Parts: sequence; structure tokens; C-alpha cells
Amino acid sequence: MLEKNSFDVLIVGAGFAGMYALHRLRSLGFSARVVEAGSDLGGTWYWNRYPGARCDVHSLEYSYQFSVSLQQQWSWTEKYAAQAEILAYANHVAKQFDLRKDMQFSTRVKTMCFDEEIDTWIISTDSGEEFRSRFCIMATGCLSKPNFPDIKGLEDFKACLLHTAIWPKHEIDFSNKRVGIIGTGSSAIQAIPLIAEMAKSLTIFQRTASFSIPACNGLLDKSYEQEIKSRYPEFRKENSQRYAALNNNPNSVSAVETATDARNSVYEDRWQRGGLPFLASFNDLATNVEANNTAVEFIHKKIQEIVQDPDVAQRLCPHTVLGCKRLCVDTNYYQTYNRDNVQLVDLNSTAIECVTESGIKTSGAEYELDYLVLATGFDAMTGALLDIDIRGVDQLRLREKWRNGPHNYLGLSINGFPNLFMITGPGSPSVLANMIVAIEQHVDWVADCLNYMRKNTLTRIQATVVAEQNWVDRVNRIAAKTLFPTGCNSWYVGANIPGKTRVFMPYLGYPNYVDYCESVATNNYKGFGLS
Ligand code: NAP
Repeated sequence: MLEKNSFDVLIVGAGFAGMYALHRLRSLGFSARVVEAGSDLGGTWYWNRYPGARCDVHSLEYSYQFSVSLQQQWSWTEKYAAQAEILAYANHVAKQFDLRKDMQFSTRVKTMCFDEEIDTWIISTDSGEEFRSRFCIMATGCLSKPNFPDIKGLEDFKACLLHTAIWPKHEIDFSNKRVGIIGTGSSAIQAIPLIAEMAKSLTIFQRTASFSIPACNGLLDKSYEQEIKSRYPEFRKENSQRYAALNNNPNSVSAVETATDARNSVYEDRWQRGGLPFLASFNDLATNVEANNTAVEFIHKKIQEIVQDPDVAQRLCPHTVLGCKRLCVDTNYYQTYNRDNVQLVDLNSTAIECVTESGIKTSGAEYELDYLVLATGFDAMTGALLDIDIRGVDQLRLREKWRNGPHNYLGLSINGFPNLFMITGPGSPSVLANMIVAIEQHVDWVADCLNYMRKNTLTRIQATVVAEQNWVDRVNRIAAKTLFPTGCNSWYVGANIPGKTRVFMPYLGYPNYVDYCESVATNNYKGFGLS
């Protein structure tokens, strides 16, 4: 297909998934174009520029592994890289692999329609442009559609309204300003300490307290970097065999079978080392409430030690299952509540009544604000896909198909929507794995599949109804063995979006998932209809 605006593959999104998909498909000789809504590449790291934005996965793991020279030549500054450095890395990759020439920015895909006569997708954009492609790869991201809360009067706010997920490119000067922030998830927890240092006052409106572990960030240890670089492929392989494809040092011992003192010293050690490996302190935290409670108690004690005002400390202690929401990782989050210019408003005792022209009115008080920051998260996993009017076979709309949850096969493909692939879609490990590792695995699988189709002169692939149902059952069955689907109102189950069907969306267990995908491919794409 070489007419203007006709490609073998159209890739939606220029984040890490879209970038690698473009590189991989081009190197196989497919014609491809990336279409991106933002004015530049970088996805998550293009949009989320709020103060403190940084990754919670170690820098030596949160990077591509497809190119040996790339992973040898790039050097990270810190253990956990900040947004600007990750964006610089994305730009470096784009330059090295000459990606920009096949990317189109400031272009939002509005509709996608599958033409069954010619097995081709017809794609239209907000500028009225039309593309045709046999295959579409949805690299639209799991956390890319910002969630704007339905709060009365929000549109009346006359001062400056910001959202962490679409932060302006210019620096915001909070000095001498009265700032309010709604939300206490990962984004807020990173932004709060830095905004508090700048602002005259910071008022935090909390609905649900989150668990946060200190990052213990710092400059990247050069000798560790050298050691890893001397055996990078082996290091990557070891990590890919772990549950979340992360080097989180899993402990195979049970928390409930460990004596209290010994248990607390394990927690203390993990707390001092910092970050997400805290969740791997014991092997039963995800499956046994009693075990989970021991970790909850430990963190509560830490909060009570750090936060001087016992009442504030009490309000900051979460009363949910640890890990059923994404664990937060911070630098000085709890310490920030000891500052004189910071106050915590618990929305469970005093709910927001409305946003006014000049601030927030709760049932208890009125707060005058110069800036209001919404750190209210995303319509996760499905939001960006459903924003596009996607119509498959017989004009079936994806919005209709997914009315009762995002049914799919392997988190990659949807019955009724041939030749369309999701990268890190619902039903895949995605957000519960190292995202870049998951992205490369998906893109490689899809690229091999398209290559197979080309070799066998096939033009259409779609998941069968049976394979899809079995997959949904499998994802649910695995999730049901853990405390996560019911342990709290998380975005993993869509609970943060009013009216969204409650389904646990990620697939738990990266290695097992990869094995399954490989067996599907080696069995001539079992579970797919090819023609
Ligand atoms: P989030 O975890 O969904 O947190 C949103 C916050 O806003 C929650 O505290 C939520 O309260 C609150 N909220 C939402 N609607 C509200 C309303 N109407 N009234 C009052 N409060 C409301 O979103 P996020 O912090 O942007 O993080 C999302 C995900 O992005 C993370 O879980 C993580 O996977 C990723 N992320 C990662 C990093 C990192 O790598 N370090 C940093 C940022 C984000 P409820 O809990 O009560 O709903």
C-alpha cells in the first residue's frame, strides 16, 4: 500500500510503545506511520510534567533493551529518573533510529472504521485527514486520558486550574501563591513536597489516603551501573522471569509464618532501601489479609513516627489492602505535613460542596486559592481507546462491545475488530509489569504475527469468541486468587470513574503471560481466525 496516507500499519501514539512499534515494523519492511495527539513524542513523559514527576522503576530497568548499543551508551543520572531525563532519553532514541520522519504530531485520531471488503482500516483525524491501513496498532497508553472530577462549579474557577496529567510546558511559579490540590495518588504524592516548598500555602484535599514508601532516590551508583552493563542481557532475562518483570528481590517466606520481630526487621530493611520492592517483602502479602495487615500496621507506625500531629497522621493512614492500589513512591511526602504552610482536608469528614470562582467550599470551610491542581488520575486502561469511535465488523462499536468490560484476547486483540492490536491493553500485564519490558514483548509478538501473515499471504486476523471468553475467564480467575480485585476502589478495576463497569483489568504474572503468548504463536496463532 503506497498511495499517499496509505500504510501497512498505522500506529496511534508516540510514547515508548508507538516508538518501538515504528522501529520494529519498519525494520521488517512494513510501511508505517505514527499519529500522535501531542505536539511531540514521549507519551506519558511528554504530558506529565508536574513538579516531582519521575519514574518509580529503577533507571537501569526502565529503558529499552532491543538495542545492545543503545542500552550500553545511555547513562542515567539518578536511581529513579525524572520526567525531563526520560523525555531526553525518548528524544535520543528517536534521533538514533530516525523515528520522527514517520511521525505526525498534533493529530488526534477521531474515528476508525474497518472496511470488510478490503480488510483495511479507514482512520480519520481531528484535522479531517484520512488514512488507510491494513493493520492498526493502538499504542495509546494505559494512563493517558486524564480524569476530570465531576465537581460542581469546577468550570467557574477563575484563577489557574491545572491537571497533573496535562501539565503546561512552561514552569509554574507557585511562590507566594495559595495552592490547593485534589487527590493523593502517585502524582500528588510526588508533586506535594515540591509545591509545598514553593507555595505560600498548600491545602491538600484527600478522599482516600494512599500507601507510600520512600524512594531513597539518589545519584545512580556508577559501580552498580557498570556491573549491570557488564551483564545487561542476563540481568534483563532474570528480571523477565519475575512476576512483574522487575528486579524487586522477592522473598519466598510467608509473613504470617514469620515471628513479629523478624518480620518487622524485613519491613524495616525494605523501607530503608525504598521503592516498590517493599511489596515483595513476603510471599503472601497479595493473597492473605492477615499477612497484608502486618505490612499495613508497619506503614501506619512509620506514618505516625514521621508526622508530628497525631490527628493528621491518623488521617494519612490508609485503611485498604496494601497493593490493591498502585503503591506510591515518594521523597519527603509524609514529612511535608510537618510544614506550617501545609494543611490536610479530609473529604470524608468535610466533603467538597463546590468549586467557587476563587477556591473550594467544603461542608466545613471555604478555601481561597490562586491555583487549583487536579491530581485526580486517569480513565485508565480503556479511556484512550474508547475516546476514539472505533467500529469493527458489521459497524460494531468498541464502546458497545466493551459496555460490560473490556473483553479481549491476550490483552492484544478483540473479537469483531480484526487487524487491530492493543499494546499493553486491558487483559495484559501492562501496569502490573515493567511497562517498557511489556511494551517490547507486545510489539515483538505483533511484529512476528504480521510477518507470519505476510509470508502466508493472509490479510485478516481476529480473536475468536471462544478464545476471548476463555481469556477473560483466565484473567479473572488469576486475579480472584489475590486480594486486589476487592481490596479497594482502585483504577485497576475502573472504580475511580463513575459508571465504569467494575472489572479487574491487568493480567497478573508477566512470565506466565509471555509463555501463553508464545504458545499461541507457535501453534499457528491458536485462538485467532486467519484468512
Ligand atoms: P490516582 O492514583 O488515580 O489518584 C487520583 C487521586 O485523586 C486519588 O487520591 C483519588 O481519590 C482522587 N480523586 C479522584 N477523583 C476525586 C474526586 N472527585 N474528589 C476527590 N478526590 C478525587 O492518579 P495518579 O496519582 O495520577 O496516578 C495514577 C497512576 O499513574 C499511578 O497509580 C501510577 O501507576 C501512575 N503514576 C506513576 C508514577 C511513578 O512512576 N512514580 C507517578 C504518577 C503516576 P480516591 O482514591 O478516593 O479515588
